[in-house]
Amino acid sequence: MNGARVVVTGGAGFLGSHVCESLTGSGAEVICLDNYATSTPANLAGLRDDARFTFVTCDVTDGIRVDGPVDLVLHLASPASPVDYLRLPLETMRAGSAGTTNALELALEKGARFVLASTSEVYGDPLRHPQPEDYWGNVNPIGPRAVYDESKRFSEALTSAYRSERGVDTGIVRIFNSYGPRMRAHDGRVVPTFIRQALAGEPLTVAGDGSQTRTLCYVADTVGGLLAMAGSDHAGPVNIGGAHEVTVLELAERIRSMTGSRSEIRFVELPENDPRLRRPDLSRATRLLRWRPRVRLGDGLAQTVRWFADAGIDGVPAGHG
Ligand code: NAD
Ligand code: UDP
Repeated sequence: MNGARVVVTGGAGFLGSHVCESLTGSGAEVICLDNYATSTPANLAGLRDDARFTFVTCDVTDGIRVDGPVDLVLHLASPASPVDYLRLPLETMRAGSAGTTNALELALEKGARFVLASTSEVYGDPLRHPQPEDYWGNVNPIGPRAVYDESKRFSEALTSAYRSERGVDTGIVRIFNSYGPRMRAHDGRVVPTFIRQALAGEPLTVAGDGSQTRTLCYVADTVGGLLAMAGSDHAGPVNIGGAHEVTVLELAERIRSMTGSRSEIRFVELPENDPRLRRPDLSRATRLLRWRPRVRLGDGLAQTVRWFADAGIDGVPAGHG
């Protein structure tokens, strides 16, 4: 990416901030567009003094204007945690519809490659396991998660239409549960929630009987997969996710034990339409991008626990607002 000029929408978020750092580290110039809907400036602390990095306050649903050439548009702007998109249902749908249109229009105007950060949620509560990219999914279009799932499905359809109708060089990655430093302690996703609860000695809230599974991918691996797609000319979709499937109860027990916590496990109500099983079929990513996740779950969780322990229980490093 050396010398490339890259626009990252949602670049202040959990994944986006790691993407921006990786890009500037490889010599790219980064323009980050974000409205802090679900993030804080603290995520960008390490980039503030970097001459290759520019932050622009921007709600991508209002339109996007960037001066000068752009080689690549990475579109990540959208609430992503269930707690966030249930709190911001209409904003989530607008990010997926108007926001994705505006990001695609920018790529069209600049002749840039465009990569959409889509999600395993397009598979809904999958009836095939593991999920290959040619599986069409099982989504309830009027359920509570639909605001996110259908936005991303719409974004994928829109991206495909800009490719076929406008000739934009597009790529779609379907990201499966990623985790790591800079997740917000209260964003509701399972890893930061269990770590926060374990460190605070509070009960770990396992939904249902905890037998539902997820396949977790450490953020450095996720970013590597996303950027491998960006550097290719493949259209995708390509699954980017972990290789090691765990039940939610196993995850709770693992985090409790690695933090030395004496928290109890408390079973709470399973959210509606919560997917039962989730694991990516990674053969396409391996074949097309020569990418596979490398960080073992134990190592990634240890790094994440250390970050939360250092940053403070609310995940905000001292000195950053
Ligand atoms: P996040 O909530 O930390 O980051 C999203 C960022 O988008 C935030 O900085 C937020 O302020 C910004 N944003 C939201 N609406 C915006 C708008 N209208 N205009 C400008 N900025 C806006 O979430 P994340 O986990 O970093 O996810 C980033 C992207 O990756 C999302 O598109 C998400 O759907 C996708 N994704 C993430 C995961 C994961 O496990 N983290 C899995 C699948 C897909
Ligand atoms: N979960 C849980 N306790 C929590 C938060 C989440 O048991 O405090 C469960 C959730 O019901 C789901 C899984 O963990 O089965 C992953 O949830 P998350 O919100 O991280 O992501 P999702 O894969 O549902 O988008």
